[in-house]
Amino acid sequence: MITIDGAEGEGGGQVVRNALALSLATGQPFKITSIRGKREKPGLMRQHLTAVEAACAIGNATCEGASVGSSEFTFHPGPVQAGEYHFAVGTAGSTSLVLQTVLMPLLLAGGPSRLVLEGGTHNMMAPPFEFIARCFLPIINRMGPRVDARLVRHGFYPRGGGRIEIAIDPAPLQQIECVERGPLKSTSAIALFAGLPFDIADRELGVARQLLDWPDSAFAVRELPAEWGPGNVLLLEAAFEQATEIVTGFGRLGISAESLAKTAAQRMAGFVATEAFAGPYLADQLLLPFALAGGGCFTTVKPSQHARTAAGVIAMFTKQRWAFSAQADGAHLVSVS
Ligand code: ATP
Repeated sequence: MITIDGAEGEGGGQVVRNALALSLATGQPFKITSIRGKREKPGLMRQHLTAVEAACAIGNATCEGASVGSSEFTFHPGPVQAGEYHFAVGTAGSTSLVLQTVLMPLLLAGGPSRLVLEGGTHNMMAPPFEFIARCFLPIINRMGPRVDARLVRHGFYPRGGGRIEIAIDPAPLQQIECVERGPLKSTSAIALFAGLPFDIADRELGVARQLLDWPDSAFAVRELPAEWGPGNVLLLEAAFEQATEIVTGFGRLGISAESLAKTAAQRMAGFVATEAFAGPYLADQLLLPFALAGGGCFTTVKPSQHARTAAGVIAMFTKQRWAFSAQADGAHLVSVS
C-alpha cells in the first residue's frame, strides 16, 4: 500500500485530492497520514471530506478513518463508474476543488457523466469557476475528452449556495505539448459583486485600469443579486491564442479594494510579461492530467511548491518523474524526465 505523508512539501488539501484522483485512476490503495500537516488547523476540513466522499461515490471505494478533523485515513478504490452525481459541499467549500478530485477518474470511466456541485464557486485559495471553464478545461478538451462547465449560480464564502454543472464525455487522454501560448488576443477585467456597495467594484477597476495597459472596453462591473452575497471578486483575464490566464482578487474583510486590485493587476502584468504558457495555478493543476496521459510538456512561470508537491504525489502512484527545467527566457519547462 502506498503511504503518503500529508505534511510533505506543500502539506495542504491538494495532496489529499491528488492522491484520491490518482488512486481511482490507477486502482492502487493508499494511506495518508499527517493530513494537511503544514496548515494552521491540520486535518480534514468539511470541504476535503466532501472530496473523499465524492471519490468513494464515483469509485465504489471504501475509506476508513475519514471524518472532519481526522489526520489519517486509508482508501481502497474500486471500479470508477460513469453516471449522474450530485455533491454538496456543506460550508460554502469550493465546488471546483471537488471537481479537481473526481474529474480525471471520470474521464477514464466507460461512459459520459454529469455532475451537479453545490457550495462555493468563488472561494479564496481555489480556482474560481471562470478559471475552470476558460483556463483549465480547454486544455483537457484539447487532450481528447469533451468537458463542458456551466455556472448556474454564484456561491461566495460564507453563504455558499452556488451551483455548477459539468457534462463529461470521456476519451483517452492524449499527450500534448503546451509550449507556445501565442499572441495576446483579448483581455477583460470584471469586478463582480453581490450585496456590497457598487463603489468597491468601481475602485477595483480604477486601480486595475491604471496598472494594466488594456483598452477601456475591457473593464466592466457586474452586479449579482444581493441575496447571493456578500461577495466580491475581481477577475482579470488574458486570452492568448493557445492559452488563457485568469488572475483573481478575492474581496474579503480587512483588505481594501485598492490593495486587492493592485496585487491582482501586478500579478497579471507580471504573467503577460513572461512567455509562459501556464500561470502558477494552472501549472499545478495540469500535472495530474498530463501524468495520466503518460507525458507531454508545458511551460510555466517559476514552479510553485504546490506543483512540486503534486509531482511528488504523482511519482508515488505512477513512477513518473516530472522535471522542472529553467529556460533561457525565464520560463520553466515541465516534462517527464
Ligand atoms: P488547504 O486549506 O490545506 O490549503 P486547500 O484544499 O484549500 O487546502 P490547496 O492545497 O491550497 O488546497 O490547493 C488549492 C488549489 O487551488 C490548487 O490546485 C491551486 O492551484 C488552486 N488555486 C488556488 N488559488 C487559485 C486561483 N486564484 N486561481 C486558480 N486556481 C487557484
